[in-house]
Amino acid sequence: MAGEALIVLENVNKWFGPLHVLQDVDLSVARGEVVVVIGPSGSGKSTLCRAINRLEPIDSGTITFDGRLLPAEGRPLAQLRSEVGMVFQSFNLFAHKTILQNVMLGPVKVRKEKAATARDRAMSLLERVGIASQADKFPAQLSGGQQQRVAIARALAMQPKALLFDEPTSALDPEMVGEVLDVMTSLAKEGMTMVVVTHEMGFARHAANRVVFMADGQLIEQAPPAEFFANPKSDRAKDFLSKIL
Ligand code: ADP
Ligand code: MG
Repeated sequence: MAGEALIVLENVNKWFGPLHVLQDVDLSVARGEVVVVIGPSGSGKSTLCRAINRLEPIDSGTITFDGRLLPAEGRPLAQLRSEVGMVFQSFNLFAHKTILQNVMLGPVKVRKEKAATARDRAMSLLERVGIASQADKFPAQLSGGQQQRVAIARALAMQPKALLFDEPTSALDPEMVGEVLDVMTSLAKEGMTMVVVTHEMGFARHAANRVVFMADGQLIEQAPPAEFFANPKSDRAKDFLSKIL
């Protein structure tokens, strides 16, 4: 149901040794919502994303996904990871598997789908990200933009309830950024719940329902993009925007 909270962080704290990398973070993401997280390097954006699918355990506070606390281990954790897809800056495709195999692997291994079913869906997802003609190639034969679109198809193949993107276009040559953002924009329009860490302010303006500004482990302010970009309230956000816009 739209509007209902899917991802809820309450009073989340995390330290790396002495470094307080997430500080009393409260964040709620509704089903179908697109939240763009921006902020200076080192502010904890990646850690926040990683905490949501428990690639990083937290030290205190709670994170719930779809009404349940994040499981710590075992099958429930594998289940969570299949429900919360993640797309990284580095595409992390399996180099020795074809594009099609990369997209089929999770459904077959984790979700125990029949190969034929997984293949059909993989092909339709490759179609959707505009890359079906490359299905039998290996990752190294594709451009960075194409590989990242495959990584998105691979995440979608698990039929996730939400997708997390951590600087998905930062490693790309500039001419390839648009093709990846286009895929993400269409996912957003189709109602996928997304948390997107990015420096692409055009995407934030056009695709986000809400922009969250982070600095030094804290969520400093959040607002709909039009409001945030026109009228950032905190000095930190004003300073950040003045440097990147
Ligand atoms: P961002 O994604 O906003 O650049 P990160 O979440 O990657 O920030 O990092 C936040 C802070 O935590 C940084 O100071 C970073 O150096 C530190 N950090 C990140 N991962 C680790 C780790 N595994 N061990 C120790 N420090 C880390
Ligand atoms: Mg990061």
